[in-house]
Amino acid sequence: MDALIRHMVGITGQRDHRLLEISVVRALHELAEAARVRAFAIFNIDEDLYVRPRVWMQNGRIISSEEATGEDHGGDSIAAFPALQACISGHVNCAEETTAEGESVLWLPIWLNDKVSSCLQISNPMPFSKSARDVIEGIIGVYRNYHSLLDYSERDSLTGLLNRKTFDEKFARMAMESVPADHHAGSERRQGMHVPEQWLAVADVDHFKSVNDRFGHLYGDEVLILIANMLRRSFRDHDRIFRFGGEEFVILLRSTSRDDARKAFERFRAEVERQQFPQVGRMTVSLGFARINARETPVMLLGNADRALYYAKINGRNRVCSFEELVQSGELQVAMAQASAEFFFDS
Ligand code: GH3
Ligand code: MG
Ligand code: MG
Repeated sequence: MDALIRHMVGITGQRDHRLLEISVVRALHELAEAARVRAFAIFNIDEDLYVRPRVWMQNGRIISSEEATGEDHGGDSIAAFPALQACISGHVNCAEETTAEGESVLWLPIWLNDKVSSCLQISNPMPFSKSARDVIEGIIGVYRNYHSLLDYSERDSLTGLLNRKTFDEKFARMAMESVPADHHAGSERRQGMHVPEQWLAVADVDHFKSVNDRFGHLYGDEVLILIANMLRRSFRDHDRIFRFGGEEFVILLRSTSRDDARKAFERFRAEVERQQFPQVGRMTVSLGFARINARETPVMLLGNADRALYYAKINGRNRVCSFEELVQSGELQVAMAQASAEFFFDS
């Protein structure tokens, strides 16, 4: 029992989903008399579900594969795991199967608002005892509750998008992934249009103040909710979307070329332009985006994207502008002396 309480303290002390998952795998491994415990990521590519092992135990050590750096990176179709597939389509909390080798396997999807993004798999050569099942049920119950509480704390209550406070941590993770394998191969990377990289965009609704002024705050809020839904539809599971404040959103786009990044942002811009907002009619958004690199701080990168956004605003709005392209064409100055340049222009 001491061990159980110790693990509960460990689990509920985490503030990061990945570390939380690692704590749960460790607890299950030690307390559930299971030969093998694995955590899987479950993610969508277009309409299909895919599954990829993310945390597991090997020779007594926890192994955690880093988050995917691209949608083609690993992952099997859920069809390869029929018991899990049935469990998810039936929206149930647990499925059990006995493999051809006689192993007992429990599948435990972790649901969050009708969506599943992870799952635990616990395997044993022998059927699970009653006490092992009770321990598993208890740990998974705590995990589900705590996971949903952690998720709730990361979201904006109006739109359900990630909130600003969560940005720094998610951003740090993504920036780490964008460290070039060879620091000196930078120039090829910088010019390469097809090298997968990470991108940060700031999107801002055009003339939003006039919606509030003409129709009232409630209609303004409704526009924000609809735009948040369009953002969710426009980007993929492994991208990250934040509401940064008021009518401003930040998108972290994972592993894609500059051309594809522009296409994705453009697709979102065009969708907003097409949408008929109830009562309010047509709305547009402007976006500025910049390449994420490990050398610049979040503040600098946000500054770059913001300058591209500002350029979009003063050049007609309802458009997408790339910071690097504006620098290349001489419309904007490079960030080197950016702090002083901004100081200079702002003062
Ligand atoms: P621009 O095209 O230059 O971006 O013009 P704008 O009117 O969108 O920009 P501005 O920054 O002047 O106005 C943003 C407005 O957003 C001001 C504020 O009243 C409104 N706002 C901020 N947060 C919320 C919110 O949560 N709900 C609603 N309804 N309005 C909000
Ligand atoms: Mg605005
Ligand atoms: Mg604004």
